[in-house]
Formats: sequence, C-alpha cells, structure tokens
Amino acid sequence: MRPVETVSRTIDSYRPVVGDAAVDTLLEAARPLRGLRVMHVNATPDGGGVAEILQAAVPLLCDLGLDSSWTVLSAEPEFYDVTKRMHNLLQGADGQLSDLDRRRWADWQELNATILPADVDLVVVHDPQPLGLASAAGGGAARWIWRLHIDTSHPDRDAWRFLRPYLEPYSALVFTLDQFAPPDVPDDRVRVIAPAIDPLDPKNRSLPIGTALSKLAGLGLDARRPLIAQVARLDPWKDPIGVIDAYRLVRGRHEGLQLALLGATEADDDPEAVEVARAVRAHAGKDPDIHVLTDPALIGDLEVGAVQLLAQVVFQKSLREGFGLTVSEAMWKSTPVVAGRVGGIPLQLQDGQGGFLVDSVEEAAERCDWLLSEPARARAIGAAGRAVIQERFLITRLLADELTLYREVLASREQQALRPRPDRLAAAG
Ligand code: UDP
Repeated sequence: MRPVETVSRTIDSYRPVVGDAAVDTLLEAARPLRGLRVMHVNATPDGGGVAEILQAAVPLLCDLGLDSSWTVLSAEPEFYDVTKRMHNLLQGADGQLSDLDRRRWADWQELNATILPADVDLVVVHDPQPLGLASAAGGGAARWIWRLHIDTSHPDRDAWRFLRPYLEPYSALVFTLDQFAPPDVPDDRVRVIAPAIDPLDPKNRSLPIGTALSKLAGLGLDARRPLIAQVARLDPWKDPIGVIDAYRLVRGRHEGLQLALLGATEADDDPEAVEVARAVRAHAGKDPDIHVLTDPALIGDLEVGAVQLLAQVVFQKSLREGFGLTVSEAMWKSTPVVAGRVGGIPLQLQDGQGGFLVDSVEEAAERCDWLLSEPARARAIGAAGRAVIQERFLITRLLADELTLYREVLASREQQALRPRPDRLAAAG
C-alpha cells in the first residue's frame, strides 16, 4: 500500500461556484463526522475517473474536518493484467480468469492487507482491484464500503462468482446506477451515488481564451479550423476506432476538419492502452488531420481543458461506460457532446441538453455533422448542458452524498459480525 499525497483545497473556495447554501449544508453534514478516519483505497494515483475524483474529494473531506486519506495498492505488473481482464469481464467481455490469475489476485490482497493501517474507522474501497482487502484484513474494527464505478449489470458469471464472496464484509455497496448492481447483491446494502466533477480542477476552471488557444497550438491543433475531439483512456470500450470512422463520414462536408484523440497512457492499471494506441494509430493511417495524442508529458490538465473548451464537438463514443466524467467535463464547458447511449452517460446527457446520445458510428457522424453545421443551435444545446452539470454533477453534491453514506454506515447499530474469509468458506466446501 502506498499513500497518495493530494493538493489541499478549501470548501469555502467553492462558494462562488455552487453558492453559499450548498457549502453551508455540507459543513453542517460534516459536523458529526469530524475527526472520522476515512481511508480511500484504489489501484492508481492517476489516470482515469476514480483518481480524478479522489484528488478532489480526499482533501475536501479533510477541509470539512474528517481525517481523510488515500492509499493505492502495491502489486507487480502481472496483477494489473489480471485486474484489467477482471474489469473487462465484469463489463460483459468474453474471456476467463485462470486459477493462477485468481491466486495472484488473492495473494496481492493478502499482502496489501498486512500493511493496511490499523487506525482507520472507515475504509472506502474503489473498484474490483482491491475488493479482497476487507476479507484479507479479517474484518477488524473498521467499517468497509465498496464503491464500484463500472457497469456490472451483466457481469461474466464465472468472474462474478469468484468475486461475489468478497462482498461479505462490506456494510454498503455503492453503484452509479441502481441497475449496475448484479442481481444477487443484497438490496439492503446497495446505495446509488453518481460521480461528479471538480469545477475548480485546473482542467475545469474557466480558462482565459489566450491560454486555451496557446495550449491548443502546443498540441499541434489549429484553432482557426473546425475541431472535434475525444478525451479518453485508449480502451476499446471507449471506441476510439468508432470516433475515427465517424470523423471520416463527416470530414468531406467540413473543410479543414481536425480530429484530436487525447488518451494519455500512464495508468498503472491499464497495460492494454499501449496496444490500443498502436491499433488506433494504424487505423488513423497517414491522415495529417487525425491527431492521436498519448504522451502524458504533453497532455496536462490545461491541454485537456482547452480541447474540451474549444472543440466544436466532443465525443464520448463509449460502448460501455460506468459514468464518463469526460461527458460532464465537456458539458461544463458548454461544449456539445456526442456520446454512446450506454451505462452512466444518459444520466448526464439527454438529447438536446448538452448534446446527443447515439447508438452507432453513423448516428454519431450525423449528430456531429448537424452540430458543426448549426453553430447557433449547437451553442444553445451546449449552454443547456452546463446547467445540468451545475445542478447535479459538481463535487459538492457528491460530497454531500458521501457524508450521508458514512453517517448511515456508522449508525447501523448491528455491529458487523466478523465473517469467515471467502477462501475459508471455499475450503470448508
Ligand atoms: N483524462 C485525462 N487525460 C487523458 C484521458 C483522460 O486527463 O488523456 C481524464 C479525463 O479528463 C477524466 C478522466 O481522465 O477526468 C477519465 O474519467 P472517465 O470517468 O471519463 O473514464 P475512466 O477512465 O474512469 O473510464
């Protein structure tokens, strides 16, 4: 386990964005939880939506008076090969986990659990990678919450059967949508909380236009020409190939059209990304107007923010998606989004309010073409999108939901019985 340092933030600095009432309500809700030692655990300190949320939520919980910390798993690269496959299987992909995969996964839970800090009241475990920590730690005095960020409505049965016993020690199981909870999960422990973006993160703050233009130029993009873009890890579920195909269907109708695909490949838990980057580049061929940008040193928060702000259309053409923070990020910048009608995306985006939902490459191209051809109507749609994010998808709403969850879990009178570990259950037959 490795602690992650975060940059401190103050809740008061959110008053101009979310209003005094929202901040005062949060301060009130946090009062009974002051001093509570909450540790968040996930697989990676950067790359992907979970890290994005924790970078803001952990220091804000501290500012609200909780003793909040963030720790990531330590493991060998092979562990992340297993967990990437596990992630894909849980989202419904084909494949399987071998006995060695299962053993490797379980061994790293045990190893990490031996160095788990003891002085914690509440542990919030994110996603499947560290799920087994609660069992490996043998319960202990802390309460445990599992927060799953992906779409597990139709998990691979075998993979789910393997993971299912590890849910036992958790007091609450948190999903982004009710329908993401697999059918055999106990209803009384299911909670639903939608993710949210941090409006004060450098990528989401309002960027002076001069800075945005120079960031765009730094990426080799020409602000005088139309630009469409997708910002997403290079992962087949995000369908970067489909985005290129949609671009090809519209480029003939929009002179000088450029496509930018931003997908920094640095996430420790995403070894597949390098392979996908190669396939995406091959698919892009020699088209000088397709920019596949993967170098993390080049794509910082300001570059992401500038692209989301200045693109005429942002894609999130996912085929599966837990939530897709990138949809909210672009909508917050009033940029119209064309996104897959999957997972948590329709929670944020509805047709005409921030962009359009699509089911195919052809539909994506059609909506993109229309938005490029109708700039005034595209602007109105983008503005409606920002209002949705303001109301429902900013970090202060997420923190309020988290505090309610912590209070509920701590208040549940029935002390968590120390349950046998799944491996023991299995051994007992
Ligand atoms: N992101 C980024 N640079 C990239 C690709 C993605 O900063 O090159 C960020 C993106 O802005 C968002 C997060 O990574 O904040 C991705 O979260 P999302 O929920 O969209 O997808 P996930 O990667 O968790 O599946």
